[in-house]
Amino acid sequence: MSANIFITEATIEGDDDGPLSGLTVAVKDNISTEGVRTTCGSAMLEEYVPPYDATVVERVKRSGATIVGKANMDEFGMGGTTETSAFGPTKNPVDEERVPGGSSGGSAAAVAAGEADVALGSDTGGSVRNPAAFCGVVGLKPTYGLVSRYGLVAYANSLEQIGPIASNVEDAARLLDVVSGPDPRDGTTRYDGDGGHPAENAEYAAAADGDVDGTTIGVVTDLLEGADDGVVETFEARLSDLESRGAELVDVSLESLEHAVQAYYVIAMSEASSNLARFDGVRYGVSGGYEGNWNDSFARAREEGFGEEVKRRVLLGTYALSAGYHDKYYKKAQDARAWIKRDFDAAFEEADVLATPTMPVLPPRLGESLSDPLQLYLMDANTVPVNLANLPAVSVPAGESEGLPVGLQFVGPKFGEESILRAASAVED
Ligand code: GLN
Repeated sequence: MSANIFITEATIEGDDDGPLSGLTVAVKDNISTEGVRTTCGSAMLEEYVPPYDATVVERVKRSGATIVGKANMDEFGMGGTTETSAFGPTKNPVDEERVPGGSSGGSAAAVAAGEADVALGSDTGGSVRNPAAFCGVVGLKPTYGLVSRYGLVAYANSLEQIGPIASNVEDAARLLDVVSGPDPRDGTTRYDGDGGHPAENAEYAAAADGDVDGTTIGVVTDLLEGADDGVVETFEARLSDLESRGAELVDVSLESLEHAVQAYYVIAMSEASSNLARFDGVRYGVSGGYEGNWNDSFARAREEGFGEEVKRRVLLGTYALSAGYHDKYYKKAQDARAWIKRDFDAAFEEADVLATPTMPVLPPRLGESLSDPLQLYLMDANTVPVNLANLPAVSVPAGESEGLPVGLQFVGPKFGEESILRAASAVED
């Protein structure tokens, strides 16, 4: 395939009948599929075939949909362009000179190119919303605990959720209806509030009714300053359409957001350094041969199996957690995370949903951003706060700038998926 969308093409038939009968699904290659290779975009797992299905895969099969392939991704989800994959970059179907975004770039590209009707990605710091924005499709990151992570190969557990990608809001919502809900195999989907798990009382597809009359939309002014002019113009044009249809726009400011990228990368890399310890060539991953002591053998497996970005993050995460530095980095990042959560709580006193551009920039050209990791990290300024606060957010196509797609992000309060889907569906009309 010229755009390099799938790492493995496979046909996994679902049940005969169900709510998604007739739909085809692309599944990000860090979501376990029984009997079908699951590489996480890494040479380390080039030959790994899981013996079980992730909960979301079981649910997709039961819904009657057919899985058509395992989609390319940044290695272990670490990146924002799908260029850190050991299997080569995916091209953006809208403009093949450009990246599709990441890390779920293969999933978004599959939908944009018509290779699949819908797709599953995972979003640790934007990896569903970023490629959705860059490929001109819809992507939703659920509230932490809405969707089971059982069978998702962990990058940073406290931040990530599996989320749907589709060419329209309703299809994304239909896929969310299928995959969400409590799972005894993932304790974080347990919900102690009254009335059971929120997904059991929600109808996401029905919520996408385009009615924003009376909705208060908080425009997060802090996140407009660093964005490209063309992105901001497209974003503001869509919001004034919504205003003309009865939405009320208010400016909100969340001072803590200026620390979000730093806090996110300290926490994400720290969790990653711990999660990736299992890839040592013995428990999981390619073996570098067993000569020498275990240290030599583990080092060889990691040297051969991991790419540059993964190595950088494991090293930085290990450093941030080490004795003597823990308080200086990890604890500070957790303090910033708590502050960001409080700021969001306050913002939702003033608005029903919040709006930001999904990405501050247009999709970069292939090869353009890899040499400067810091620039790449800063691209995540608008998406990572949502993961730090465990909130739901959706990216919906808002129009174009310079002929390239621009995504508009709606952020909701905890378990406010129905509100953000409603607002997103209004942008589509
Ligand atoms: N770009 C972010 C990172 O590299 C987000 C990745 C993700 O959500 N998996 O960590």
